[in-house]
Amino acid sequence: MRKLPIITSMYILTVYIPLLSSSLLAQAAIPDWCRALPRPEYKTLERVPVSDLWFEVYKPAPGIFAIYEPHQAEEVISYLIVGQKRALLFDTGMGISDVKKVTAELTKLPIIVLNSHTHDDHVGDNWEFDKIYAMDTDFTRKNAQGSREDAQAEVTPDQICGTLPKGFEPRTYTTRPWKITNYTHDGDRFDLGGRTLEVIATPGHTPDAISLIDRANGLLFTGDTYYPAPIWLFRPETDFKAYAASISRLNGLAPNVKVVLGAHNIPVASPAVLTRLVLAFAAMRKGVVPPTPDSPGKVLYKVGDISFLVRAPGGK
Ligand SMILES: [Zn+2]
Repeated sequence: MRKLPIITSMYILTVYIPLLSSSLLAQAAIPDWCRALPRPEYKTLERVPVSDLWFEVYKPAPGIFAIYEPHQAEEVISYLIVGQKRALLFDTGMGISDVKKVTAELTKLPIIVLNSHTHDDHVGDNWEFDKIYAMDTDFTRKNAQGSREDAQAEVTPDQICGTLPKGFEPRTYTTRPWKITNYTHDGDRFDLGGRTLEVIATPGHTPDAISLIDRANGLLFTGDTYYPAPIWLFRPETDFKAYAASISRLNGLAPNVKVVLGAHNIPVASPAVLTRLVLAFAAMRKGVVPPTPDSPGKVLYKVGDISFLVRAPGGK
């Protein structure tokens, strides 16, 4: 779903048909996005071994663990941000395997959860945690009730790359309800001991979207407001005007940022991307870039390395 450009299945057929082996039949069932993995950028990152093979964990900066789920099309990335006294888990992933168990292998400190926003692929394991900070919006409260429909769409065969965890049952997969224990707001600071994170409300992708900045270390966690693949701006809860203001605010922080850490596909990007994001979004809204058709009812706008997946003009 958050796919980057890759070779087509036609190419695969051309290359492999002469072999006519059973491995060809096996490959035919592999979704295109999955063939593009592993993404080359991961080679440059330090990998941290964990026991659960559903996850891959990388260390993009000291005390930062990117918990990546490469076997599902969202390729979602949750971040465990560790201080001296406690840790903050920025998103809990799909809830397909057990992210809490992974975090327990990475730190013994108490963990608080904060979500970049409450789409299903970011709150899947919230139910496992005791302390969950959330934005004070109706959208957030509704999503905290859990849901089945979005979760079910995540586990169709075209969304899975490799093997689902043992014991996982796609037919009964839902986003489980979870409990908001504390509200958080724009400008709040989380002192983790030797590391402070500040909440930046960045509504647009959703009304409850936030980014986190670690000013001392120049780290900006952008959730789904920016990640290095087509940015999804087609859902009814998306607000273009709010999104434009949010990315402009993030761009203003760029001079003090060393690394931008988004919530899908690849965990590191250069802060220069924030300016390109603002310019690309403005170009799209001005109508100076032509859309290309994507899945039914959606079009893709692409400006250089930035792209947006939005509702087709006239579509619902
Ligand atoms: Zn999202």
